[in-house]
Amino acid sequence: MSKGGSSEVDRYRFLQTELARLEHAYYVLDQPLVPDAEYDRLYRELLDLEAKHPDWITPDSLSQRVGGAPLKVFDEVWHTVPMLSLNNAFDEAELIAFDRRCREGLGLEKVEYACELKFDGLAISLRYEAGVLVRAATRGDGTSGEDVTANVRTIRSIPLRLAGKQLPEVLEVRGEVFMHRDDFERMNKSAAAKGEKEFANPRNAAAGSLRQLDSKITAKRPLSFYAYGLGALEPSNWLPESHGQLLDHYCELGLPVCHERKVVSSVEGLWEFYQAMGAKRNQLPYEIDGVVYKVNSFKLQNVLGFVSRAPRFAIAHKYPAQEEITTVLGIDVQVGRTGAITPVARLSPVVVGGVTVTNATLHNEDEVRRKDVRVGDTVVVRRAGDVIPEVVSVVLDRRPSNTKPFEIPSRCPICDSHIERLADEAVARCSGGLFCAAQRKQALLHFAHRRAMDIDGLGDKIVDQLVDLNLVRTPADLYRLGFSALANLDRMGEKSADNLIQAIAQSKSTSLPRFIFGLGIRHVGESTAKDLAKYFGNMHALMDAQTDDLLRVNDVGPVVADSIISFMSETHNREVIEQLLASGIEFQAEERIAGVDLSGKTFVLTGTLPTMSRDQAKALLEAAGAKVAGSVSQKTSYVVAGADAGSKLDKANELGVPVIDEEALMKMLSS
Ligand code: NAD
Repeated sequence: MSKGGSSEVDRYRFLQTELARLEHAYYVLDQPLVPDAEYDRLYRELLDLEAKHPDWITPDSLSQRVGGAPLKVFDEVWHTVPMLSLNNAFDEAELIAFDRRCREGLGLEKVEYACELKFDGLAISLRYEAGVLVRAATRGDGTSGEDVTANVRTIRSIPLRLAGKQLPEVLEVRGEVFMHRDDFERMNKSAAAKGEKEFANPRNAAAGSLRQLDSKITAKRPLSFYAYGLGALEPSNWLPESHGQLLDHYCELGLPVCHERKVVSSVEGLWEFYQAMGAKRNQLPYEIDGVVYKVNSFKLQNVLGFVSRAPRFAIAHKYPAQEEITTVLGIDVQVGRTGAITPVARLSPVVVGGVTVTNATLHNEDEVRRKDVRVGDTVVVRRAGDVIPEVVSVVLDRRPSNTKPFEIPSRCPICDSHIERLADEAVARCSGGLFCAAQRKQALLHFAHRRAMDIDGLGDKIVDQLVDLNLVRTPADLYRLGFSALANLDRMGEKSADNLIQAIAQSKSTSLPRFIFGLGIRHVGESTAKDLAKYFGNMHALMDAQTDDLLRVNDVGPVVADSIISFMSETHNREVIEQLLASGIEFQAEERIAGVDLSGKTFVLTGTLPTMSRDQAKALLEAAGAKVAGSVSQKTSYVVAGADAGSKLDKANELGVPVIDEEALMKMLSS
């Protein structure tokens, strides 16, 4: 190590040691210490220093290696064709540079590329001999990996025998083992309930599950697989001409291949694919951290060849990181509609998933305690799509001294009532009920919600003032509001006051399910409100219902029944309902399609239907008594799919749920 200031040399040495420590935790132990974005930054810094001082690079530099050493507890498998990593492009300029390198390297004006998703799991090589799965190995350090055959045999989507005739003598299929988001959440929840170790993210869960010594444990873990590459092949003339054709061929052999892929003819096509998949990213049922582009022709791939740890003919184009690190400046508590106390971390501003985040939820007291988040801590923050940012974990080795564990306050910060926590509940609650202004505000907003009483224009700024000025204490008070009270509010002109008065008056003409939902009874969501309305037919019957009656209603169990009984036994709540009814609220019958009864059936709508919107289809189905759910499960009766249907369609196919189109749906509704 020659030139370069001593601080640069020190930094370079530090980066080598620090990255080795992070890689060991990530690849070998499946327990990352920092988010990928932080690792990527340090790794880039290492590459920049090496670019500046090429003579520093030694064969054992981390920049020359792939992955981590395989665990010795598994048998070692040598990869005859190495399993490499991918170089990354983080922005448009790096993408353009990749295309330029390919074009120049090939002496072509335009290059055809195969675009795929970059699944966030772990790479696996499946060796089929005459069509029979004989061995499965992890990537390890790229030249040798771990023999995980017994575990891989438990993954149901991986065929133990390939379909079709004239199968090659040896075919090594490369692909990714990963976990669907909902499977991951379910698994982690059940691990938490049993007091077992939870995984940081679906990638680590997949890696940890596959690298289990006991394949019975792996069998219980919900792992999935997609094929995307090729290792050893005999005879070599079996090989099709292009990557795209290889994947088509894999499908014919019965191997799972993701249908979100495309062959494009130039760099513009790459950019379009990146944008299109970026827009879909959060709706996909599994995590991706980017897309991958590969020169489509195998002949041209060979011309370009490899650098030390990655092919020259492929690149991973990354999306903005959804996890970042930052520090906790403070922890506040917020009070929700039902008094639930939510601890919220105030953060040093940080860009996550392309948006600046300053607050992140800590969910509840148990979560804070389990994660042991303290003021002053460096934490990993996650923000995926429109989901509220959350604190995932603490980077313990960056904890300053003299921090203190967080305690939920004993009194409500809004109304000073006691904060209590019932033995069987995860959340602490302010005992102030509607005395607590925070709860009153949330209850009013819920009542006015578009899917409840639908009072257009009654937003949080107005509700804040109405409650703070004591003009409104309960929803019934809304119907007594006069024009002058409203017109005098801050930022409220005569025109808006008039509009709001009209909206309130119009909301009197509603339906029973909307009204029941608007009351904000705990555990009574929109669909339970519909079931209750259908069963009881009028408000008074529901108010006087006994537990036995309630339990007869579709989907109402003891918890929901208890919650309704307890709500209706509060004199105050009964008074508010009576006042509301007395103020002239009228229930319009929900329209029903004569003769068609789809009750008991659950539908999921996905994609763009040819002639109607999803809301219209939903209304028609509900009018026929069917339920319309947001996600596909074993309980789904039908998935109605239109154009560009995405993950829900995949899930339906995976679970064997019947898929119909709009035409079939209309037939069903008119039969
Ligand atoms: P990589 O994950 O960036 O890319 C290579 C891998 O991509 C392949 O091995 C394969 O498993 C996967 N892949 C997914 N879809 C693919 C497709 N369609 N075609 C080809 N390959 C596909 O590289 P890497 O070397 O495995 O590791 C780097 C990644 O690991 C980075 O994202 C880095 O942030 C993360 N990492 C994080 C830490 C940490 O401490 N948080 C430590 C080490 C590495």
